[in-house]
Amino acid sequence: MVRPVALPDVVRTRVDLRDALAKCRRPVGLVPTMGALHEGHASLIRRAHADDATVLVTIFVNPRQFNENSDFDAYPRDESADLRLCGAAGADLVFIPPVDEIYPAGFQTSVKVGALTKPLEGAARPGHFEGVTTVVAILLGLAGADHAYFGQKDAQQLLVVRRMAADLGIATEIVACPIVREPDGLAMSSRNLRLTPQGRAAAPVLRRALSAARARFYAGELDAEILRATMRETLAAEPLAAPEYVSCADPATLAELDRVEGPALLSMAVRFGAVRLIDNEPLP
Ligand code: AMP
Repeated sequence: MVRPVALPDVVRTRVDLRDALAKCRRPVGLVPTMGALHEGHASLIRRAHADDATVLVTIFVNPRQFNENSDFDAYPRDESADLRLCGAAGADLVFIPPVDEIYPAGFQTSVKVGALTKPLEGAARPGHFEGVTTVVAILLGLAGADHAYFGQKDAQQLLVVRRMAADLGIATEIVACPIVREPDGLAMSSRNLRLTPQGRAAAPVLRRALSAARARFYAGELDAEILRATMRETLAAEPLAAPEYVSCADPATLAELDRVEGPALLSMAVRFGAVRLIDNEPLP
């Protein structure tokens, strides 16, 4: 017998969220998302369900973190599928605010983190992280959660959010969760839905490029420029892949390394037509 999955409660306003949370058992785990949920998001929700008595998922496509209106407009949205996934993964409550509930008339505050937001995604997407930290600060403030779960998939975002939470004295513990991948190695992403069939077939090259650099590292190569060149060469073999950056950086500061003498973070952003994908892998 197929057992129907209980759908979580949905709230759409700040006031209703506060009222609902006041009745919930603690600890509370928060999973912020932009919807179009997939197994990567489900892994975060399941982790929260294992750690916390109440799991709150937020679904908000945040206009302030998009650089291109076309990317914001094209961002996939499917509320009923998202609610089913939330229920199946163990969410109790889902906050789906309209834009003017997060940014009401007169809104004029933003949260800006410093040096960590300058390289990589910050250089490629001006203003992106200010949009992210502003909305995450609002969500952390509204939820007052004990834990908030973020994917390692967005490694720089995780570092920036941790920095912000520490700097602002936000009590919520930021928990990192591993990257969930498709069987062919492509990191799951809501943007994968927008790839053409040819782009989808080409996209696992990101993971192959990371693996090639990792293999060179384990074969004894410590020159970070050679590891970056290895990733660029692998990407160059895929005609549909247009790399934006490849990086071998200090995982704490994100400064590019000359030599890998301690931990490092390999990362990249690659365009397939209109769709921009990112991936990363820590060394060792
Ligand atoms: P998004 O909806 O893309 O803003 O992502 C919401 C959260 O899910 C972020 O913390 C992401 O890092 C995380 N996430 C997205 N894709 C994955 C994935 N493939 N594996 C693990 N976490 C992910």
